[in-house]
Amino acid sequence: MERLINSPVAETPTAAVAAGTGFTTPMFSEKLAGIQIGAISFIDEGVDEVLDTVQERAAANALFPATFSFSTGTAGRQLAGQPFPGHGKDEYDTIRGGNFARVHSQYYRDTGIDPSATQAPDYGNFDVLGDVIPKARKRGMRVFCLVQDHFPKDFPGIEKLQERDFNGQYADTLCKNNPYYRNFLAGLMEDLARSYDIDGVMFVCEHQGALSNTLGSRLRGKFRGKPGSRTCFCPFCRDKAKQQGIQFDRAHQGFLELERFVAAGRAGQAPPDGFYVNLWRLVMRYPELLAWEHLFHEGVREVYGLMRERLKSAKPGAEFGIHVWHNITMSPIYRAEQDLARLSESTDFLKLAVYHNCGGPRLASYIESVGETIYGDVPAEELLRFHYGLLDYEGSDYPSVRQTGLGADFVYKESKRAVAQARSAPVYAGIDIDIPVEPDDLIAGSGDRGARSTREGICEAVREAFRAGVDGIVMSRKYSEMRLDTLTGVGDALRALPRQSRRLG
Ligand SMILES: [Zn+2]
Repeated sequence: MERLINSPVAETPTAAVAAGTGFTTPMFSEKLAGIQIGAISFIDEGVDEVLDTVQERAAANALFPATFSFSTGTAGRQLAGQPFPGHGKDEYDTIRGGNFARVHSQYYRDTGIDPSATQAPDYGNFDVLGDVIPKARKRGMRVFCLVQDHFPKDFPGIEKLQERDFNGQYADTLCKNNPYYRNFLAGLMEDLARSYDIDGVMFVCEHQGALSNTLGSRLRGKFRGKPGSRTCFCPFCRDKAKQQGIQFDRAHQGFLELERFVAAGRAGQAPPDGFYVNLWRLVMRYPELLAWEHLFHEGVREVYGLMRERLKSAKPGAEFGIHVWHNITMSPIYRAEQDLARLSESTDFLKLAVYHNCGGPRLASYIESVGETIYGDVPAEELLRFHYGLLDYEGSDYPSVRQTGLGADFVYKESKRAVAQARSAPVYAGIDIDIPVEPDDLIAGSGDRGARSTREGICEAVREAFRAGVDGIVMSRKYSEMRLDTLTGVGDALRALPRQSRRLG
């Protein structure tokens, strides 16, 4: 801490406020150093204390409070079983979650559910926007509401918004072509923009279509792709497909055959002509498999457009940005659907998850999944090398990538690619600060704990992101899982940047 206190740059934010000068308007257009944070951290540690910490340690100038979240990935304390970070309470928690600000029901129309039931019941009267924004403003910090595309399956009436498998089975996920869910998200934008002095919203949608899910083309893919996650085939999606000339019956048959192909692969049975050839045979026989995947992603992009339009009509200056799921750094199929050039035209910023530490175990889990489906013919070591070639970054060999993580060069390469693609929207690199490696990403019973963040490693990752030309960073996923020492690595990097490019307070 002594080094920080003695640093003249470290004192700048508080010094400016103390001198009564505050932050001037031009600074609000400067490089962003945001941090994702859940309400519980403010409650456990105090609003001013948390803001002091993130400013002093990490030079943060923006907050991304988990405002609408039912997920322990972004809200709540440390995940159960993971080491405590050394601040906040040394207790695990369970949350119901929802809207951690206040729900104003008048802004929601024809949503199929009772909007007032989305009020998070977890923390009494604490309002993560109402209680935090005034204090953040005094420090010149911007505030972007993190909104996550997820409802628990036991939420009252949620089946009206849920996706469907092609057998009619309800999934836990929400359909982006469902008009009730669209109305809900639009209402939420209006509520947040009209009820609070926010700078914008970041929407977190970590989903893909039925083809990718069935093939397990994602991190932890072996644990997905089961019936109920092959979505969406709800009546709204089927109608939309019909209007585009995509035949549901053909898609249904294609997915049944695809499912048999995957089940055999998972059971260790290679098709006579090999996995890759058989997959292509299926895709050419049933191009509906691809069409249905694209339909899914088009629906997501339409939702982005709708949310942005509603947010800006309520508050013209507000920014609508998206979190780009970590899977973009692993699955070439997912990357193909996330055309950052196109996305940048309909969003105000792109936060790219370039999580380098947990990226190692997650990438290994991806390789193990597609190594039984799309690329079942290729040994894991070669398959990982092949992906480094496809995705244009380098990392450790399989399986040691689990322990080493992906390194700062990965952050540089992925950030640079995004900056080059996303011409019309700022790119913020999402930096992995102590994101827990989850059991599904490890080999059960191996004693493997996966890659770990360090202060030096974080400093290097942030430095490399800025060297790649990003417009800012977002410390991820949530403050309650970050160790303070690691967090200080962000401040180390930011304070070492040249002043003209640093553009921080
Ligand atoms: Zn649907």
